[in-house]
Amino acid sequence: MKFGTKTIHAGQDPDPTTGAIMTPVYQTSTYVQESPGIHKGFEYSRTGNPTRNALEKNLASLENGNHGLCFSSGLGAIDAIIKLLSPGDEVISTNDLYGGTYRIFSKIFENYGIKFKFIGLENVKKIESFVSKKTKMIWAETPTNPMLNIVDISAIANLSKKYDLIFVVDNTFATPFLQRPLDLGADIVMHSLTKYMAGHSDVVMGAAICRDDAIAEKLYFIQNSCGAVPGPMDSFLVLRGIKTLHLRMQRHCENGKMVADFLNKHPKVNNVYWPGFKFHTNHEIAKKQMDDYGGMVSFDLNGNKLEDAITVVSNTHYFTLAESLGGVESLCGHPASMTHAAIPKKEREKTGVVDSLIRLSVGVEDITDLIDDLKHALEKL
Ligand code: PLP
Repeated sequence: MKFGTKTIHAGQDPDPTTGAIMTPVYQTSTYVQESPGIHKGFEYSRTGNPTRNALEKNLASLENGNHGLCFSSGLGAIDAIIKLLSPGDEVISTNDLYGGTYRIFSKIFENYGIKFKFIGLENVKKIESFVSKKTKMIWAETPTNPMLNIVDISAIANLSKKYDLIFVVDNTFATPFLQRPLDLGADIVMHSLTKYMAGHSDVVMGAAICRDDAIAEKLYFIQNSCGAVPGPMDSFLVLRGIKTLHLRMQRHCENGKMVADFLNKHPKVNNVYWPGFKFHTNHEIAKKQMDDYGGMVSFDLNGNKLEDAITVVSNTHYFTLAESLGGVESLCGHPASMTHAAIPKKEREKTGVVDSLIRLSVGVEDITDLIDDLKHALEKL
């Protein structure tokens, strides 16, 4: 089954009892048992729910995995994945990552004795120099939030195999339409489904997808034991969103390119970060591991003044100022004060999250309106 067919059909057979073409919302907490232990495969909806199961199968198929597990948010998925570890274990994590991921690593799990080494993952030799006997996991985001850095998934997967580590890739920005980390050797793909996968800014949900049965068994145990599962209505909405993932992503990529090109020529703009540019530091790796470059574009302004960034994000009309990304509507954000406020200024500036940095999630609206919108906002400077 090809990708654009999987989005619509994988995990979703017509309902056996009614023939309903859409997977029903099984809004139930429990399931009747004929006698103790004799049931139709479902006992209790924390453990399993048919709507959620359809979504989990669909996700496993899109990422070319064997197991998909959904969680009540992206952070719920991250929480479950880190719970594969024990006190004393160490994680090598990218230092250019979503602020909430940094927060759960440094403010929650450090308290439980798990250590995180935040480093740039661009250089595999450098990563290797940080591997110790206690290292158990490597955590990467690619492209990263918000600097759109790219790391070489295959190269890190090879290193990870050498030391028998679990290699996790947060694939939220790319989605499996653009990049399939399991095919490149990653062990677990993590998603904030809240973003492009659901695609309509109406659900918060996360997922972990893997091939290995032993990892999956542990994750199922954590999912059921800790209980951060999504409800059936939300699962239905994500399933419905995914049906158009391939169509939306095509337009996100087209519009993202046009916006990046426009900003790159604008006299008031300093740096533009978009992996499709030939001059992007890791463009060649992006070209190798991604099918296109996505709809996320970040840029900073000449003079790097916080007030200027605030002027721009306060004067856009279609690029609405809001956290999150990946919906059909365009959004803009100011990472230093919004999504990345949890990261200390000194730490975030090392990775380029400067005061004037603006992050755009380019939606699927008409591109002429989007460019005009940015033009007018930049004229206010
Ligand atoms: N990973 C990335 C790259 C994100 O951008 C986000 C949220 O913005 C998350 C993880 C966390 O996901 P959620 O907000 O669904 O908990």
